[in-house]
Amino acid sequence: MENEFKELIKILKKNGMSEDDIKMVRKAWRFTKLAHADQLRLNKEPFASHGLRAAEKLAEWGLDVDSIVAGFLHDTIEEGVAKRKDIVDEFGEKVAKLVDGVTKVSDIKLRASREEEFVENLRKMFFAMAEDLRVVLIKLADRLHNMQTLSALPSEKQKRIARETLEIYAPLAERLGMGAVKAELDDLAFPYVYPDEFKKVKDQSAVHYKKVGEHIKMMKRKILKELAREKIRAKIDTRKKHLYSLWRKLERPEINWEFEKIYDLAALRILVDNVAQCYTALGIVHRLYKPVPHLGVSDFIAQPKPNGYQSIHTKVFGPEKQVVETQIRTNEMHEQAEFGVAAHWHLSSLKAKEKISSKEIDEGKAVVDMQKLSWAKQLAEWQKEISDSKEFLEAVKFDALSSRIFVFSPKGDVFELPVSATPVDYAYAVHTDLANYIKGAKVDGKVVPLSYKLKSGNVCEIMKTKNPREPNRDWLDFVVTNTARKKIDKELRKGNNR
Ligand code: MN
Repeated sequence: MENEFKELIKILKKNGMSEDDIKMVRKAWRFTKLAHADQLRLNKEPFASHGLRAAEKLAEWGLDVDSIVAGFLHDTIEEGVAKRKDIVDEFGEKVAKLVDGVTKVSDIKLRASREEEFVENLRKMFFAMAEDLRVVLIKLADRLHNMQTLSALPSEKQKRIARETLEIYAPLAERLGMGAVKAELDDLAFPYVYPDEFKKVKDQSAVHYKKVGEHIKMMKRKILKELAREKIRAKIDTRKKHLYSLWRKLERPEINWEFEKIYDLAALRILVDNVAQCYTALGIVHRLYKPVPHLGVSDFIAQPKPNGYQSIHTKVFGPEKQVVETQIRTNEMHEQAEFGVAAHWHLSSLKAKEKISSKEIDEGKAVVDMQKLSWAKQLAEWQKEISDSKEFLEAVKFDALSSRIFVFSPKGDVFELPVSATPVDYAYAVHTDLANYIKGAKVDGKVVPLSYKLKSGNVCEIMKTKNPREPNRDWLDFVVTNTARKKIDKELRKGNNR
């Protein structure tokens, strides 16, 4: 473990973290080991290694010191012997808040209903309860390590956790623009959730992967040679489509398991220093390999995708007329594409450390001290900058969401309500018919007063009377939704006129 910790420190130094911050990280490591002393994970590793692995991921993603410390500490209260007060005393309220956030979102679990709308609500709820985007990133790092060590768990748990990963965590990573993380989560979960399908696609794809693998190796050599002749320093990654997304594609009716119809089974990715070199590289690729008519070139550098993604894609005929997708982008575009929001966080914190030149101040630019901007503000800035995507904005709009809570019905359906909503509001949100039979309410299995303030993640159950009855006038004192207020009013007036 200590060697792994040294590796982590190396990454942090490379990221340009200050000595003071690194001291904090060392302290967090000591704290984690104490809090989890003598505790083992089910895979027999010391428990503290789990915090270490999460912190390591966060460092790779270039996150700030508070996130990395919280990555270490995220289980020290719930699983270890630490108290919240210890964390506040040693690392401050900011870190304690991040740990609270991780604990809160850990309670969000996939339940019975798996309809798309329900799952979408769960993802929204995740963002709403996280409050701080860094909480989502810590949770993703936590989940990655849990998935890597999933084989140690009993099979029932494996299935549930893997399914949650496929339905909630991988899409969250995708939404944050973290393509590589999404692919890794998908493929870690795939064999647990769909074992037979996994085996089928793995067996059948092997021969195709092998062939295309040889083709792209050959192409890589040729292209690198030509680029060198143009004096362009380039790196070429070869990438195979990840198994889970291959399976999803093979299952589409228009593909119907015909591998020949899959054009992105393997891809070449050419990374260069600047945009001009991207276009030179495109010329070289097309000189060597003819572009496929009609499928052709997509220039997402000239026209970035709504989520900010930039790259040139071209489909060309490789050896044996095999279609191979080639992506060309700069290193910076690549970092953004792979790590999404995390990369942005990293880049803007680097920018923050650069001194702003007096020229820029004279020109009225960049007078803002980035360090003083809160994360939420920075996120908002960033959204303005790169994202018009409605879907993305929906997902990360904290302000709109932080005034909402999400409550489950006993069947597992999710209802969105304003903060301070009560079981009576909930009943009216479900159906007026239900509200007409209110006798009492249970939250998470315990009887509560009807004025109880519901919290996100609560399961709310209305205990029903035998016969419908008039609403109680007192309910008007605590309901917060317009629907409930209006309907109660209406019923009471009806009663008076009788
Ligand atoms: Mn954990």
